[in-house]
Amino acid sequence: MKIGQLVKLHIKKIFKHCEVTDHSELTRLTDNKYSKKHFDINYPFCAVAASISPEDSKRYWTDRYVVQGKTVRVSSQWFDTSRTQFIQYLVSKKISTSEVISSLHEPDLDNNEKSPRPSRKNSRYRGNAIGNAQNLLVRNILSNLGEESFNDQDWKETKEYFSNQCAYCGAESDLVIEHVIPINRVALGEHRLGNLIPSCRACNSKKADKSYLEFLDGKKERIEKIKRYMESRNYVPLGNNEQVAMILDMAYKEVAIVSKRYIAILNELFPND
Ligand SMILES: [Zn+2]
Repeated sequence: MKIGQLVKLHIKKIFKHCEVTDHSELTRLTDNKYSKKHFDINYPFCAVAASISPEDSKRYWTDRYVVQGKTVRVSSQWFDTSRTQFIQYLVSKKISTSEVISSLHEPDLDNNEKSPRPSRKNSRYRGNAIGNAQNLLVRNILSNLGEESFNDQDWKETKEYFSNQCAYCGAESDLVIEHVIPINRVALGEHRLGNLIPSCRACNSKKADKSYLEFLDGKKERIEKIKRYMESRNYVPLGNNEQVAMILDMAYKEVAIVSKRYIAILNELFPND
């Protein structure tokens, strides 16, 4: 996993640590020296969004997080050399464990074809494909939570709520079902009424796994309309539900364990292969 991805996967947990466990940590994370020392990066881990100068803006990811009442953005200036220190930080603060971190895979590995095809003997990349199965299992679980179903009538009414337009851009043709909160083990979206809105194909593919807030980037009316819709259908996103995230992590890892078990069984069958 690229270092940037690894950092992004942990931002919410780090900020939760600031909110719940260590109230001074946010101040430290906005400090240059502290960030240099702990992450070997040349910008503070995060900065108050309003204090970032226009020329520094590209040094920070666009996502905004509200932590202890402050709206912050996280530095994007990571290099692979920071990886070990970043992991050490997560482990030392008990934000994660090295086992969990080493089990993480890219959220989306649909482009396996682009990866080099390693030989069987020296295959550092062999684990890639399992990431797809793991993500699929998580999607499957999240898609099937609850009893209710989303039927034709629901879809018709949902489109009507949004005036038969794309909820993101207003386009009227080619509307597909879009998950406002993405269905993956980070965002924890679900396939149920309130999380499904009409979107044109272009917006649907551009948004991908982004949050709708980031994708709509300040388009207040559209954001409000989506929020109102979710509320009207009593959809409460699972959000930062640690228990759910933990259980999904277990399911995610179990896929890899099952796979390893069968690989071992088959390898035993053909010991010299
Ligand atoms: Zn659109």
